[in-house]
Amino acid sequence: MKMDRKDPATLLDLAMQSLLSTETVIIQSLEEIPRDLFIPLFTAAFLGGHKKTLTAMVKVWPFFCLHIGTLRGHEIHGELLKAIVDGLQVLPAVNSASRSSKLKILDLRHDADCRTTCFQTRTTFPFCLRSCSYSQISAPKREGQHSAVNVVPEVELSSYPTELLVDLSLDGTLRAREFLSLLLSKVEESSGSLHLCCRDLQIDKLSEYKNALKLVDLLCIERLAVDQASLGDITTLLSHMVHLDSLSLSKITLKSLNGKTFKSFLTQLERMKNLQELSLSFFCLTNRLHKLLRVLPPGLDFLNLPFCELSYRDFGFLSQCPQATQLKLLNLSNNPISWEDCEPFQTLMENVSGTLEYLEINHCLITDSTITSLIPALSHCSHLRVLSFASNPITMSMLVRILQNLIPLMELKYVVYPIPVHCYERWYFRGSLDRQKLADVHAQLEMMLQAAQRTDMNLITILE
Ligand SMILES: [Zn+2]
Ligand SMILES: [Zn+2]
Repeated sequence: MKMDRKDPATLLDLAMQSLLSTETVIIQSLEEIPRDLFIPLFTAAFLGGHKKTLTAMVKVWPFFCLHIGTLRGHEIHGELLKAIVDGLQVLPAVNSASRSSKLKILDLRHDADCRTTCFQTRTTFPFCLRSCSYSQISAPKREGQHSAVNVVPEVELSSYPTELLVDLSLDGTLRAREFLSLLLSKVEESSGSLHLCCRDLQIDKLSEYKNALKLVDLLCIERLAVDQASLGDITTLLSHMVHLDSLSLSKITLKSLNGKTFKSFLTQLERMKNLQELSLSFFCLTNRLHKLLRVLPPGLDFLNLPFCELSYRDFGFLSQCPQATQLKLLNLSNNPISWEDCEPFQTLMENVSGTLEYLEINHCLITDSTITSLIPALSHCSHLRVLSFASNPITMSMLVRILQNLIPLMELKYVVYPIPVHCYERWYFRGSLDRQKLADVHAQLEMMLQAAQRTDMNLITILE
């Protein structure tokens, strides 16, 4: 840790600095260091990048869990994570003379609100708020308890399996590859006693990670995001999961919506009873949305369907589905609405108005007449916090009318509005935008907000 901060360093900080300046000495004397000093010393070693000290400290960590959540807010180096993972003892210590590690849960995830170790009392030991409750080999399950709290004598600690908690973002970078191979080698080294617990998994180009993922316990995944994959591979991946809260798929290839693959995808999706958030983009669902909606839990909160080529029929299905009256977030951007009859869209808006907090309908070719039919329902969306309807061919007079109807929505803080058609020489043609006209539009809308004492509402537009 550099001591160049403006606030004076505490005595403890200074003590840590002086200890760390002699890394070899501190590593040798770790066994005599009082338990209470471990956390400040670990923090100082982490911030100062003292890799050897970190490894040595993890090896003799005197607490049940270690969460580096708050420290990850700082710039993180793969080398530091490697040093920490290296210290994790997955097999019983060979040298019984040394102070043995009590560490059973190493949590490498970023979390700003997490203590470095969970509060321990002498009677309840061990205890960790974040321990895994799904895995076959995780401590709570093994003891036949489903709560995170375990009351067992200290002597049994050595028989506990170890958990390594990580969020994985497999984005093809060298850093991601190195981190994954480090984790996988640790799993292999443990010969089954280490549970690699991943609850948040993001993958770019699934085909490149198919083999590596065989070593990850997919049972614990709660959030999955995949960009670029075949629907068949997604279906296989989903078949290993049960507890998904959030699924996000983008650029997924499939041959046909009538085929077997789509059917088995729906079968897997139907198993995800806890699903709260679904995001499908660049996923052609034309006239098939009802099949998808049928297998989704009725309590779904977030539905993102941009670039899904939704049809008039699909809007009809969406407006009538049980999920519609529950949704907090709805994103239908980039689905061109070219039909004259807007009734399904209108019904949809009426049905979501009781719960909706976030609505995105950018790039939908929404005209004055379409939006006119939506205004009554929109003005009932009393929980609405964000409305984005950019890049739609709407006139200035309509924009003014919409804003008048939005002003009474007190929760609404962000409105991303379309640049009205008169600002373009030819609507939505790059280079034909008159910036002065747009500045006048913005000034006029801002004045409306001031007059209505709604300066808490932010008006934003997107220049493309
Ligand atoms: Zn804990
Ligand atoms: Zn787990």
